[in-house]
Amino acid sequence: MSECLFCNIVEKKIPAKIVYEDDHALAFDDINPQAPVHALVIPKKHIAAVRECNAQDQGLLGQLLFACVKVANQKGLAESGYRMVANTGRDAGQTVSHLHFHVMGGRHMAWPPG
Ligand code: AMP
Ligand code: ZN
Repeated sequence: MSECLFCNIVEKKIPAKIVYEDDHALAFDDINPQAPVHALVIPKKHIAAVRECNAQDQGLLGQLLFACVKVANQKGLAESGYRMVANTGRDAGQTVSHLHFHVMGGRHMAWPPG
């Protein structure tokens, strides 16, 4: 087992409801959904947070964002809209130290977030 929860999900050692997978990205439903649709899109490679990304990760970041779009389309959110969020570090409330984009939709969401 890896020490990282999401690496264990990538390695299929911890179960998750996987909704999308390609060579570089994995997406699964959030275990504690905050909206009718709430999925997480992660890189298969361990990166702790977006603030840890370097120039070589730029392409991967683009692929992850496009994976978010594909997940949102698959979940039927294209017309109603959705939010993509990457919490980074303490002030943003990041709780899992493996980069992840939240893809949330299916209800109206306020702005600014709390
Ligand atoms: P963050 O607080 O931005 O780091 O987001 C971490 C997210 O991971 C939260 O929304 C959690 O509900 C979610 N989460 C934690 N453990 C699991 C798990 N085993 N499977 C799916 N989602 C999880
Ligand atoms: Zn990891």
